Amino acid sequence: METVADFKEIVDEIKANGGDAFKLCFQCGLCDAVCPWNRVITFSMRKIVREATFGMTDIESEDIWRCTTCGSCPQQCPRDVKQIESGISLRRLATEYGIFPNAVKPLRTVSASLTGAGNPMGEERKTRADWANGLSVKPFTEEMDVLYFPGCYLSYDPRLKKVAVATASILKQAGVNFGILGTKENCCGESIRKTGDEELFKRLAKENIKTFIDNGVKKVLVSSPHCYHTFKNEYPEFMVNFEVVHIAQYVSALIDEGRLDLTKEYAKKVTYHDPCYLGRHNGIYDEPREALKKVPGLTLSEMPESRENSLCCGGGGGRIWMETPRGERFSDLRIEQAVDVGADELVTSCPYCITHFEESRLALEDNVSLEIKDITEIIAEVI
Ligand code: SF4
Ligand code: SF4
Repeated sequence: METVADFKEIVDEIKANGGDAFKLCFQCGLCDAVCPWNRVITFSMRKIVREATFGMTDIESEDIWRCTTCGSCPQQCPRDVKQIESGISLRRLATEYGIFPNAVKPLRTVSASLTGAGNPMGEERKTRADWANGLSVKPFTEEMDVLYFPGCYLSYDPRLKKVAVATASILKQAGVNFGILGTKENCCGESIRKTGDEELFKRLAKENIKTFIDNGVKKVLVSSPHCYHTFKNEYPEFMVNFEVVHIAQYVSALIDEGRLDLTKEYAKKVTYHDPCYLGRHNGIYDEPREALKKVPGLTLSEMPESRENSLCCGGGGGRIWMETPRGERFSDLRIEQAVDVGADELVTSCPYCITHFEESRLALEDNVSLEIKDITEIIAEVI
């Protein structure tokens, strides 16, 4: 079997996706200095860039699948080498060749589930809105102000359904006129796109866009920074523009407008983790902190790596579906940082981060206690 794709093919593919940006690299190595992978293994984006420039990429290597698209190296790169976009084009090539290293093989099942049921877990479409049973959450209609789009993980995952429930209770308390699409909702497609499956992304995006238009949606409220990112920055590629708001922003605004009274005491020390796709990719750092600071009794402390320098949880770029062995998980390091600042709770606003942190939390010593919370779970407790 060929281990190296044709030189021209790789170069052409990179050119077609993200331009010729790899060529701009002058091998300074700053990307490797900031990449979280180098906390746990040896990994070099600089080397990937160099090999790709000469069409020498080994598309069988797991390395082309490692990037979590965390956004740290593009933020630091002095030559604007588009590591994420160009890196995805290498995955696209591997996908076309059908080459998936062992750790990446679960992607095949994920793609099949997304194609068949509109979610990556292989859950039935008809149960998508079951999280809202008994909550009197209405189906979205054109007259409503806001479409609440919980996304796949909050719709199906038992831990994350609690976040959808907390969100619905906040929206009701604030008197927001909102509804959900229920079984008509599809995966947003953000993460499958980052694995190189452009065709499936386009199919999911087009289905969602059609559903939004058919139902008269103008404003979409999301819980996942990945939905936020793709609705706001990628769906406009299809010549549409919906107003998109992330729940961390929305909750902060509802508090500022006096629509939510935070009345109960929450005497806990919490630290906030910036999800990559809320922070670095979209610049939303202040609103979640502002909301948390207004909770009576809550003490907010910062981990050393926060805001632009936040440590990735490891779940972006489709890595949420790939296998990362113990000892290589960034989330284990993040949990340690939260414990080190004396936090009772590690708070964030992303389903992938919560999934990874909940897993990492299980490995803590018996005498160390740390709860993982979504920001909405705290707000719902104090209103
Ligand atoms: S930071 Fe940019 S210029 Fe420097 S090695 Fe990495 S990709 Fe190349
Ligand atoms: S985007 Fe993040 S994970 Fe990907 S190579 Fe750059 S620093 Fe590493």
